[in-house]
Order: sequence, then structure tokens, then C-alpha cells
Amino acid sequence: MYVDSHCHLAFPELAGDIDGVLARMSAAGVGRALSVCTRLDEFERIHALAMRDERIFASVGVHPDTIGGDEPTVERLIELARRPRVIAIGETGLDYYRLPEPLEWQRDRFRVHIRAAREADRPLIIHTRSAAADTLRIMREERAGEAGGVMHCFTESLQVAQAAIDMGFYISFSGIVTFKNARELQAVAAALPLDRLLIETDAPYLAPVPFRGRTNEPAFVAQVAAKLAELHGTSIDSLRAATTGNFSRCFNRLSDFSPVFS
Ligand SMILES: [Zn+2]
Ligand SMILES: [Zn+2]
Repeated sequence: MYVDSHCHLAFPELAGDIDGVLARMSAAGVGRALSVCTRLDEFERIHALAMRDERIFASVGVHPDTIGGDEPTVERLIELARRPRVIAIGETGLDYYRLPEPLEWQRDRFRVHIRAAREADRPLIIHTRSAAADTLRIMREERAGEAGGVMHCFTESLQVAQAAIDMGFYISFSGIVTFKNARELQAVAAALPLDRLLIETDAPYLAPVPFRGRTNEPAFVAQVAAKLAELHGTSIDSLRAATTGNFSRCFNRLSDFSPVFS
């Protein structure tokens, strides 16, 4: 089976038809999905779905672009991360694209997530946009490698990917890697080792070719896998096996994970 390592099932585009989304996901051979939290007032809905459906796991975190709502503390993140079915902290990170400086609060928020992830022993889901140097610097300063995790929806250079891999992170590609104008990113994906790759949709956004412009959903992660298989000159079967195994290695810190996952 495939695993969608990053989607937002609590967003209204998907939550409004969740039974249909889950049915199409299973029909497409996507056996598991990690539903990612972007603000604390979203967490209980994400968690409730993970508790009632064994195909879904949850994360807890506040996105770097989230303004308003409760600001996370280390203690609050640890408390929520220790709930059953919560397998990651995030998404967190830095995004200098949407918001103007000063963004010291965004860097502080990122540090809070890394500290919580180390303390709770949960991997991190890291978002980075137009902020790669600061992202890597803060990861080093806060010893993010002790928690590990994933650089999600990766769009940076090979050097940035390698620096994250050197800290023990995985690199996850979204539908962007299927876009015709994504030549540079395709070259990065082709150069990375198979044992460090993850696949994701980041649904409801960024639907892969040939679904561009439609609402994205976990079923479409197979298109990302097919593109990575093509770039690596390998079969879809081996790409699927590698990325599903990588997901399990990256996120398996819980006693209740393996039986549910296998
Ligand atoms: Zn993101
Ligand atoms: Zn996301």
C-alpha cells in the first residue's frame, strides 16, 4: 500500500466529504494517511478522526503561517503529542514567503516545536519556504536531529536536502514534483537516495498532474509515487515499498503503531 505522509483532512474541502475521501483513498491503494495539524483549535477534530479510523494518524502543531488562535507552548504540545494515534509534531518551520519581517515570533514558535518533539520523542514535520538557511540553522541550534522527522513538500536545493538528511531527516515530495515546470526539483528528487524519500499530497492543495486545478486528496498520492519511480528508473512497486517502509521507520515511536500499521 501507499502512505500519504501529509494531508489536511480537517480542512473544509475534505472534511465535508470525509467518507468519500477515505473510500477513494482505499480504492486507490493508499492504506494510511497522516492528517496534519496547522492550529490548535483544529487538533480535536483531527484526533477524533484518527481515533475512529485506523487508516488515519494525527499530528499536533501550529503552522508558521497561522496567525491568531492559541500560541503553542512546549508543555501543551507534549501533552497533546502523548495522546494515542498522535505520531508527529507539526507542521512547523519557517515561511518567509507570505509574511513580512520581523518574524522573530515565527522562529520562536519553531524552536518551541523542536523542544517539544525532543522531549516527547516524536518526529517533526517541517515546512520551509524562502527560509532554508534559517530553517537549517535553527534545526542545528535546537538539535532537531534528536527528534528526526521529515522536510515536507520539499522544494529546496539538493544541498538543503542533504543537510537535512545528514541530521537524520527524510525528504517528502508532493504533487509539485509532477509539474512540467519543476525540472530542478525533479533533478533533486532523482539524486536523493530511495531510503530517504517520502510521498505526500498536502491535500487539499497542489493536486498532481493530471488532476491539477482540482481539489487534491490522499488518493492522488499514487501520481507522486509514479513520478518518483520514473525519475529513479525503478518500478512503482519498489518505489511504493520504499516509501511505505520509510514512513514506518520515520514515524514509528509508539507501541500502538506497528500492529495498526502492518
Ligand atoms: Zn507545509
Ligand atoms: Zn501542509
